[in-house]
Amino acid sequence: MIYLDYAATTPMLPEVIKAMHDAEEKYFANASALHTPGHLAMNQIEHTRNLLAKIINAEPEEIIFTSGATESNNTVIRIFEGCQIETSPLEHHSVIETAQKYAGSKLPKLYSYMLINNEIGEILKMPEIDMAGFNDSELFNAKSDWGKPLVTDRKKSYLHSDLTQALGKISLDVKELGLDYATFSAHKIGGPIGVGALYIKKGVPFKPLMIGGNQENKRRGGTYNTVGIIGFGVALEKVINENTPRKYDEEIRKLRDELARRILDEIPGSSLNTDLEPGTSLPNILNASFKAAEGESIQLYLDAEGVIVSTGSACAAGDIKPSHVLMAKTGDAEVAHSSIRFSFGLDSTIKDVDKVMEVLPGIVNRLQQMSTIGME
Ligand code: PMP
Repeated sequence: MIYLDYAATTPMLPEVIKAMHDAEEKYFANASALHTPGHLAMNQIEHTRNLLAKIINAEPEEIIFTSGATESNNTVIRIFEGCQIETSPLEHHSVIETAQKYAGSKLPKLYSYMLINNEIGEILKMPEIDMAGFNDSELFNAKSDWGKPLVTDRKKSYLHSDLTQALGKISLDVKELGLDYATFSAHKIGGPIGVGALYIKKGVPFKPLMIGGNQENKRRGGTYNTVGIIGFGVALEKVINENTPRKYDEEIRKLRDELARRILDEIPGSSLNTDLEPGTSLPNILNASFKAAEGESIQLYLDAEGVIVSTGSACAAGDIKPSHVLMAKTGDAEVAHSSIRFSFGLDSTIKDVDKVMEVLPGIVNRLQQMSTIGME
């Protein structure tokens, strides 16, 4: 199998599987308990917390563990229930739909801007990124990526970013990004599904989503998922020890760019939805469209050849609406319907690119021949 759907989820790293397997026996105790096995389990949790804090330049107390990025996003938005909430049109559904349901007209205002989009890999330019080192109490005006003036009074507004796709791929500094809240998920970096984290800057408003337990300093009720958090920690160790952002930038980018070049060269009617210019997109994501060929059909034919990719957001699979991200970017339903996302991982090799290009041109050609839209 050629797996090129790492942005949807990554296979668990062998060292994560082993650590979690060992932890099932060794750290089964309730980590909140006062007895020794409880303390030992809690030490493991704190180890993961310290690693994440180090990677994102936060204090360990500013991090809580959750069940994943969806919960982290929901938690932040529910703090601002009834308040003004502005999101970028490229957000994940767990931001967009929650914001639609809970936004109101009060202040303070929440801005939720993801740093990296999961469907096309675009690095969004948050105005705060350019404002590194600005004074917190300062009122500033800047143009957001989407053309609207973004006026942020730090006393009246807060900034959240969904960093799910960014963790381990680019270096991150929540202070430099000017963030008040940030979302993370373990399964995008070789950790387990069902474990995530939320950065909550000291002193910003907070309200727990899960109530009924004193865990995480009363910020998230529920018995600690010690085994899952240990798995997350092992995946974070790899980020630090192997400097994975550098690997993505130097090694994986080459594979992504080679696939893009060959698609454009060898497949008539192909176009790219990902900007390849360094600094504009994540190095491991390539979204491409194929005129007069439907994305879902390409995906199924590739699957039959053992090549695993996705169309738009895997989380929205089964949804026949065109991707909201591609519609926001291109405004063209045909481009959105004919798109495929290839996403690479640290295990990917040039052989994966070769295999894709062995089968993709024929598949696209066959679909184009059958299409009623036509190539002209
Ligand atoms: N946000 C983004 C940007 C994502 O890519 C995903 C996963 N596709 C999520 C949130 C949801 O993550 P989780 O599965 O951890 O809830």
